[in-house]
Formats: sequence, C-alpha cells, structure tokens
Amino acid sequence: MKPPDTIVCVDCLGTCHLLSYPPEEGFEPGDIVAYRCKDCLDRWDIELAVEDFEDRTEGHGS
Ligand SMILES: [Zn+2]
Repeated sequence: MKPPDTIVCVDCLGTCHLLSYPPEEGFEPGDIVAYRCKDCLDRWDIELAVEDFEDRTEGHGS
C-alpha cells in the first residue's frame, strides 16, 4: 500500500512530488505525507484517506 507518487498542486496545477519516505510497516490511512510542488515549491501535507489505498488497477473488473 502506498500513496500516489505525485499529486496535482491546487495552487498552480503543477506536479507535487512525494517527500515522505514510507515507514517500515508502510503507510496507513490517517498518516500525514508531505508533497513539494516543483513549480511553486509549496509544500502540501496530506492526510491519507482510505480512498487513497484503493486498488487503482485498471482493466480488471474482478
Ligand atoms: Zn504549485
């Protein structure tokens, strides 16, 4: 389980890259992860939600 490597900056719509390293046991919902925008250099602290851990595999409806 891991959060997305990048998110979209809500300020400039640039790409924010994940700063936080995963703990040994992996991320869990409720953990705070930090992202840094490469365009405006703003830092975003995001609390992980359960939805962030949903399987995003495409093409398999199971
Ligand atoms: Zn930005």
